[in-house]
Amino acid sequence: MSFLKKIFGNNQSFKECPRCLGKGQVDWADIERLNQELKWIPGTCAYCGGSGKVDNGIEDNVPVDASYLVINLQEDERKSIINGHPDALERGKQFDEEIDTLINQISYLHFEANLTSIQIAKFFFIGKEDSNSYESEKQDFINYVESVIQKKASKD
Ligand SMILES: [Zn+2]
Repeated sequence: MSFLKKIFGNNQSFKECPRCLGKGQVDWADIERLNQELKWIPGTCAYCGGSGKVDNGIEDNVPVDASYLVINLQEDERKSIINGHPDALERGKQFDEEIDTLINQISYLHFEANLTSIQIAKFFFIGKEDSNSYESEKQDFINYVESVIQKKASKD
């Protein structure tokens, strides 16, 4: 192998990250493009690890919009997902199902049972009222419930 090929050869197996479009950061435009408004917030791109470049074969291992693959995963787990490790992909699938279930529960409680976002948050926090972070976590959850309601309302 020639000297130059040794240095640059590897680069040919990399391409621009399809999640963040090479920025290294996922922003709201990326989140909307990938339809993850209820699952992600802006931050460092976990698909490319912030480098803006990914291995050419990555999409065979894990889709660009895999909800579970976010930057606050442990690095070992992130690598397992990117390498298409079956156990890690299964954990990702379960995580996706749990979030989808939560979104469906919130939608039902609001649109079918006519509960407000505050009532829905109180329902999910039953038994957790004694926790120190109760008020702030409940408020975060209320905000989340409202974004679910907005998103679902805009779809119909
Ligand atoms: Zn990226």
